[in-house]
Amino acid sequence: MREFLQRTALWLVTITVISCGFWVSSSADAAMLALAICLGAWLAFNLYHIALLMRWLRHPVPERVPDGFGVWHTVFMTLYRTMRTQSQSKKKLTHVLERFINAGEAMPDGVVVLDELDRIEWINPMAVEHLGLDRKRDVGNQILNLIRQPAFHAYMKNASFSQPLMLTFSQPRELVISLQLVPFDSTRKLLLTRDITQLERVQTVHRDFVANVSHELRTPLTVVGGFLETLSDMPEVNDQMFRQFLPMMMEQSRRMQSLVEDLLTLSKLENSPKAVNSERVDMRDMLDTLMVEAEGLSQGRHQVKLLRNCDCGLWGSSQELHSAFGNLVSNAVRYTPEGGSITLAWQDEGDQLRFSVSDTGIGIPREHIPRLTERFYRVDRGRSRGSGGTGLGLAIVKHVLARHHARLEIKSEPDKGSTFSVVFPRERRNDSQAA
Ligand code: ADP
Repeated sequence: MREFLQRTALWLVTITVISCGFWVSSSADAAMLALAICLGAWLAFNLYHIALLMRWLRHPVPERVPDGFGVWHTVFMTLYRTMRTQSQSKKKLTHVLERFINAGEAMPDGVVVLDELDRIEWINPMAVEHLGLDRKRDVGNQILNLIRQPAFHAYMKNASFSQPLMLTFSQPRELVISLQLVPFDSTRKLLLTRDITQLERVQTVHRDFVANVSHELRTPLTVVGGFLETLSDMPEVNDQMFRQFLPMMMEQSRRMQSLVEDLLTLSKLENSPKAVNSERVDMRDMLDTLMVEAEGLSQGRHQVKLLRNCDCGLWGSSQELHSAFGNLVSNAVRYTPEGGSITLAWQDEGDQLRFSVSDTGIGIPREHIPRLTERFYRVDRGRSRGSGGTGLGLAIVKHVLARHHARLEIKSEPDKGSTFSVVFPRERRNDSQAA
């Protein structure tokens, strides 16, 4: 500024001196003419630089600041430096903002930024997925018009956001979302969303499991308790009645024992590390044992057969596989009426090995098949309990097979019979026993 004033003063002094010189040496007219020419030149000089400035202002790029003379050189240089500093800090700010946006986009949780009127300012991709919003269409719209659930409206009105809200969406897929508002910046709000579908499912399974176990134990406990109460109310224990009650109490206690044993097996399978892969499972011994067990359970009521086209064994855990195969055999016996037949088979199918148990029993309606391996799932509750079932057999089978990379195939037709097959990948084959 100072330099500008100095230079301007210098110009004016020079013009005045030149005009006075003309006045003294010539005449007042000559002085006026000289003054007019000098002022005109000075005006033209300034107008030229103003024109340069105006042209540059139309596209103000720091690198293209015009190059001027005299005081205008100083003006343009100052302009260039200011512009450069501004452009650098703008670049820095843009970079920081970009990093924040990228972090927001990459977040595993959903984030929606709301303005003071609860209109959407920004959404990240997770929030789009969780809330079914559209980044282009919905920005600028009120969130209350987009999420119509009454619980959400009540939550937004409540103005107390210390606890998250749980929302369930059924479209386009079943989704449970935990959602929380975090006010910031005095008027704005962050809406955070998290997908808790899986967690909710696990908790539901856990709740159902506890309810099922309690229910399964309550019936036999009530029966045994009832008998004991009746006996204790009797002034003298009637020997005949006692003998009548005893088998029924034993039956109920056996039921509880089987249930607890199955529960322990399941918990062991869930909590122990992956199945032993280095153990040799001798399938000849296994099949012999299973045949003896099937005949023992059947007590001559069924025809039990064994088919095999291979003497090969398996890599895995004998104990776990025996528990899984034993459950399939026991089911075949329990769900096949007297006179039916049960066939155990062990087959090498080239790229896979198959252990199967077929029966000519009651069969299973098609709609039940996908759910059979769920804990406590039964087609006919009464029949299962009546035959000593716990409802956990196929759940155990599923666990054991998963630990052996095997799969369960179920084919069944009501009143015709069922075939439960365990299919092992070829890598599980162990030939060392076949000698
Ligand atoms: P359960 O102890 O009740 O037998 P499982 O888990 O072993 O429990 O089997 C689940 C259900 O599958 C049974 O309740 C029964 O309805 C059906 N099921 C299993 N195996 C057979 C079979 N071989 N024939 C007919 N139904 C079967």
